[in-house]
Amino acid sequence: MPQRPPRPPIDINSGRGFAFVDHLGHVYPSGFFPEHCGNVKEGGFREVYRTSELLRSLRRPERFHGKCGVCEFNDVCGGSRSHAYAVTGDILGSDPTCAYLPEALRAPTQRPGHATSAPA
Ligand code: SF4
Repeated sequence: MPQRPPRPPIDINSGRGFAFVDHLGHVYPSGFFPEHCGNVKEGGFREVYRTSELLRSLRRPERFHGKCGVCEFNDVCGGSRSHAYAVTGDILGSDPTCAYLPEALRAPTQRPGHATSAPA
């Protein structure tokens, strides 16, 4: 059986490789996000997807706020932007449902490679 070649993780998230278009033509970062960012009847989907400030901001996970902004996995995860918006009012905020603590926010003794006990 042929093996599928390995590939790097693909970051697909709200506005990054994904968008939702409703029955009126409004474009949303996802089907769970309540604010639209344009309409396919005004310039087409491609134009909205490429130029919307909201969608463009979602493609810069290093600019997310809180722990999602400093998380070492934000380029492949990024958290739920809809959860962040629903709970904090900030679409770039941290995903409140994530229990992960990014390395940048851990105490030095909690970081990988730290010797937690002296050798016997
Ligand atoms: S903090 Fe959690 S939700 Fe945010 S990018 Fe990291 S793993 Fe994803």
